[in-house]
Amino acid sequence: MLNPLTILLVTILADAIAMAVLYSLRRAKIPGVGYWFAANALAVVALLGTALQGHASPWLTHVAANVLFALALLLLLEGCLRFLDRETRPWPAYVGLVPVLAGMIYWTFVAPNFNARVALVSAYHASLYAALGLLMLRGRPANRPRYSFYFLASVALLLCVGHSTRGIMYGFHLLEQTNLTQVSVPNIVFLALGILAPPFLSIGVVMLAHDRLAERLERLANVDDLTGALSRRAFLEIGGGLLNASLRTGMPVAIAIVDIDSFKAVNDTHGHAAGDEVLAHFAAFVARELRIGDVFGRLGGEEFGVLCPATTAAEAVVLLERLRTRFAAAAPGDLPRGLRYTFSVGVDQLRSGESLAQMMARADRALYAAKAAGRDRVMTA
Ligand code: GH3
Ligand code: MG
Ligand code: MG
Repeated sequence: MLNPLTILLVTILADAIAMAVLYSLRRAKIPGVGYWFAANALAVVALLGTALQGHASPWLTHVAANVLFALALLLLLEGCLRFLDRETRPWPAYVGLVPVLAGMIYWTFVAPNFNARVALVSAYHASLYAALGLLMLRGRPANRPRYSFYFLASVALLLCVGHSTRGIMYGFHLLEQTNLTQVSVPNIVFLALGILAPPFLSIGVVMLAHDRLAERLERLANVDDLTGALSRRAFLEIGGGLLNASLRTGMPVAIAIVDIDSFKAVNDTHGHAAGDEVLAHFAAFVARELRIGDVFGRLGGEEFGVLCPATTAAEAVVLLERLRTRFAAAAPGDLPRGLRYTFSVGVDQLRSGESLAQMMARADRALYAAKAAGRDRVMTA
């Protein structure tokens, strides 16, 4: 039976389920999840209050229920701001709760007016949904799936339009009604839109949280923790793709294998922690100096790989030689613990029909030659 009370009860159940799902995410410590959980809890209380209309005091069923429901939406918005790492808090929305409270009291007890109450609450919800929709559109990431952002933005904008229409229709007396649970087609449509909002929004925020988890896992698998360079696995995978592309286009690809000189001595003399600092410092320096499109990964220990698309071995030598001289010119204050160290490089370029492993093996031999020739130099195969 599609009557307002049934819709309310189904929504309460859906909210309770959303709370259970959000609770399961608590250990992931994703910013915003706490707010989203609280928003659902408040919505459950508010909807229960609304469902008691005619059986309990209007202080609960009208005033508290509406203010709590508005606050629930506000907390959802807060959660989204925290999720997106925004510094701001939605102060106007907090302040806006005061007229909502005052209006609810006035139009419930002083001058009872159902239409005015609906118009007031709808205006509040419409503006918060507009803010949420815009936040999702502005906050959508450039390099992650955007589906959940568009989903939430669409839901929010639809709800904004729904609440605006509702506010106008009641505010200008295009619809006459005396209480919320009255059965009429427009009332059921508006009510369904309004109270189905929390479960839809919860699905949206759970999708956001899941994508954040996926992002963390991908980062763990693809990025080396200590240096921020690509992991060996990700380097080889991206390198394989680069080679295939170069086979199609006929463009050259160069590789450089870079190894820090006498690194064991850094560890032995200054300790493993100093060695780690050197690794992080070196990777940060190289990452800053490389061009967009160059691929930089940690192959293992103090050995790194650089893949340069559309670059010949001769050009890569120039690039790495420049890197080496700039590195040598670094001010002592920019060095980790003031330690000055050097690196050697083996360079080569892709030959037709060979694999990444074959190309890397030749660059490795060039590196070996650079070490044998006295270190702190760039050599080709
Ligand atoms: P060469 O100039 O010939 O490259 O000599 P090297 O001392 O740099 O090379 P070697 O292969 O002898 O030593 C590499 C050292 O790097 C040994 C290993 O303990 C250390 N190492 C590997 N991974 C890490 C790490 O993550 N942190 C630190 N601090 N040391 C590491
Ligand atoms: Mg070394
Ligand atoms: Mg080494």
